[in-house]
Amino acid sequence: MNRPRIAVIGAGMAGLTFARTIKPHADVTVIEKSRGLGGRMATRQTENGSFDHGAQYFTVRDPRFASALAADIDDGSVQPWPDRVIGIATDGRRHERPQSGPTYIAVPGMTALAKSWAKGLDIQLNRTVKGIAGTAGAWMIETDQGPLGPFDWVVSTAPAPQTAALMPLGPVEMAACQSVSMQGCFTLMLTVKTGQDLPDEPLRFDHPVLGWLAVNDTKPGRAKSGHVVLHSNNAWADANLERPPDAVRDDLHAALVTVVDIPGLSQPENVTIHRWRYANVSKPLDRPFILDRERGLAACGDWCIGNRVEAAFVSGLELAHALADLP
Ligand SMILES: Cc1cc2nc3c(=O)[nH]c(=O)nc-3n(C[C@H](O)[C@H](O)[C@H](O)COP(=O)(O)OP(=O)(O)OC[C@H]3O[C@@H](n4cnc5c(N)ncnc54)[C@H](O)[C@@H]3O)c2cc1C
Repeated sequence: MNRPRIAVIGAGMAGLTFARTIKPHADVTVIEKSRGLGGRMATRQTENGSFDHGAQYFTVRDPRFASALAADIDDGSVQPWPDRVIGIATDGRRHERPQSGPTYIAVPGMTALAKSWAKGLDIQLNRTVKGIAGTAGAWMIETDQGPLGPFDWVVSTAPAPQTAALMPLGPVEMAACQSVSMQGCFTLMLTVKTGQDLPDEPLRFDHPVLGWLAVNDTKPGRAKSGHVVLHSNNAWADANLERPPDAVRDDLHAALVTVVDIPGLSQPENVTIHRWRYANVSKPLDRPFILDRERGLAACGDWCIGNRVEAAFVSGLELAHALADLP
C-alpha cells in the first residue's frame, strides 16, 4: 500500500508535533518560510547573544505533552522556569502573581525544543508557500522557489488568518477558520550594560501599553548578556500595528520608563523592535483541528484550542492521530 504524501506548512510546535507523530504512517515534507525552526517559540540571535522574543515559557498540563517532553526534560534541554512572576499594577505597585502550575522553557533558547523535535524530518526552510493548486489526492504547493508535489494531503499550521488566505478550504471549513480571532504584539529587545541591577523575576503588567518583561539572563542556560525582552499589551499592539516601527518602539519604551524605575532600562545600549501581527489567540476555534477528509485538506495550530504552546502541541497531536489510519 502506498504511504500518503503529506505537505505541512509551518515548522512551529503544531507542525513539528504533527509531522513527527504522523511520520511512521506517511511521507511528510514540512515547508517553513523562516530560516529557523520553532515559529513563535522563537529565539533571535544577535552579535551580542540571543533573545527569546516570542513565547516566554510553556505549561505542561496534558499528560501527552509531559510524555513527549520526558527525554528533553531528562537531558536538561527543557527546564522549569520561572519560579515566581511579579505583577505590576498601572500605578507601578507590585504584587506576587500566583502560578497555576509548573512552567518550562527550552535550553539554551526557546528554539532548542523545535531543533530537537525536527531531527529526522524532511524540512524545507526559507521557503514560503504562496498557494495550493490542484485537486484532492494531487495537491501542488506553490512556493517562492517553485512548486512542490504532488501531495495527497496538505496541512496548514500557519496562524488562522494566513491559513484562510492560503488554503482552498470548502465553505464550512473556511467559515470555521475565519471565526478565529488573533491579536498582535510588539516585542522590544533591550541590551543593557552588564552589571546593572535588573529584575530577578519576570514582570507581568496590568497596563494599557505594557504586557510582560523578562531578563533573558535569569533563565537557565542563558549567557549573562544584559538582554531584556518586553512584550506590549495585545490590544495596544493591534491599535498600533501599521505605525512606523521606530515610533512604536519609542512609545513602548517611554511607557516602560514611566512604570518601572530601573536605570538600566531607562538608558539601554540598544533597543530593537519586532512586530508580531498574529501573536496570540483571542477567540479560538471550538475544536482541536480542521479536517476535510474528502479533499485531503487540514489545519491545526494553537488557534484551534487556545493561546499557548501546549495548545499547539495538542492540536498537532490530535490531528495526526485522526489521520494516522488513512491509507
Ligand atoms: C510575543 C509572544 C509571546 C508568547 N508568549 C507565550 C507564553 O509565554 N507561553 C505560551 O504558551 N505561549 C506563548 N505564546 C504563544 C505561542 O508562541 C504559540 O501558541 C505557539 O508557539 C504557536 O505554535 P504554532 O505551531 O501553532 O504556530 P507558529 O509557531 O506560528 O508556527 C506556524 C509556522 O508557520 C510558518 N508559516 C506561516 N505562513 C507560512 C507560509 N506561507 N509558508 C511557509 N511557512 C509559513 C511560520 O513561519 C511559523 O513558523 C506567545 C506568542 C508570542 C508571539
